[in-house]
Amino acid sequence: MRHNFGAGPCILPQEVFKQAAQAVLDFKDGLSILEISHRTSEFEGVVAETEKLVKELLNVPSGYSVLFLQGGASLQFAMVPMNLLPEGKTASYLETGVWANKAIKEVSTFGKANIVASSKESNFTFIPKDYSIPEDSAYFHFTSNNTIYGTEMFSVPKTSIPVVCDMSSDIMSRVIDVSQYDLIYAGAQKNIGPAGLTVVIVKDEILGKSGRKVPSMLDYKVHIDGGSMYNTPPVFSIYVAMLNLRWLKSKGGVAEIEKENIAKARALYTEIDRNPLFKGTCAVEDRSRMNVCFVMENPELEKPFLKYAEENGIEGIKGHRSVGGFRASIYNALPITSVHALVELMQNFAEKHT
Ligand code: PMP
Repeated sequence: MRHNFGAGPCILPQEVFKQAAQAVLDFKDGLSILEISHRTSEFEGVVAETEKLVKELLNVPSGYSVLFLQGGASLQFAMVPMNLLPEGKTASYLETGVWANKAIKEVSTFGKANIVASSKESNFTFIPKDYSIPEDSAYFHFTSNNTIYGTEMFSVPKTSIPVVCDMSSDIMSRVIDVSQYDLIYAGAQKNIGPAGLTVVIVKDEILGKSGRKVPSMLDYKVHIDGGSMYNTPPVFSIYVAMLNLRWLKSKGGVAEIEKENIAKARALYTEIDRNPLFKGTCAVEDRSRMNVCFVMENPELEKPFLKYAEENGIEGIKGHRSVGGFRASIYNALPITSVHALVELMQNFAEKHT
């Protein structure tokens, strides 16, 4: 049995893989999901259901649109300022990692980014807390979960200006109050579905105010008006996202999965803190429930531990090259039994090496 702790694209439920595989062979009357037009009523039904599931699972209030786009979260780094930043205005960003940094870089094409705070000096091992957000900024942007460093923000900074959040790696993992945000975006390939799809949830009233002329494909309004079908959408990715969100709903929704995610994270961090061979890399209060980063007290044991893990069915725990050590990603679809398997492995390894 393999346990997939990969950071993304990552584990999805086995039943979703089976249903997706079946739809590749026969989605409707012997036709594959890969060969039908996106304009068929069947696929329109898929988009409608996926949108309904996103709204239901996150309790999205009225006045927000849900969009299924392409280009990954990385294209959102540019689409956000392109659509929301008026000429000559500044946008405020919290710098909590490489992804936040890449988002900041994209602003320069359109205007100025103001970094309200950064934890770069400490290699992003914590979330900055004491900062103020200038009220004359066009919007405030933050990354809720820093996939590479294993830090997560569980509350939304208070401000009166529009709040934009890159929620790529913790969307659908915990209950959020969407009304506290004006725009949420996420590459789908963690808790939503396969790569190739980007989900955007945007409060309609913030759009159309930048005064910029935006190319059609990069204009949120065009995609809202087109019902995410302005051009050919990522048909298969949306279909698999629908299956995965159905699975999440059948599990009791986001509130239920959050309980499991808390239990999984607690089990793993408890072992990291208890086991003398390992130590966590982040400030305890900012520890992510999705990406658990840790190193070994003796770096020379890291290679043997990784080998031991791989030999015993633990996949994908090598840390990102900019942090080193290990990163165990424990997304929604990873069962707690996989976390127990990793904890047991850490204990067995410690027995051999202490
Ligand atoms: N933001 C975060 C928090 C991410 O984890 C990632 C990718 N892992 C990205 C942005 C970039 O997403 P994409 O590859 O979909 O452009």
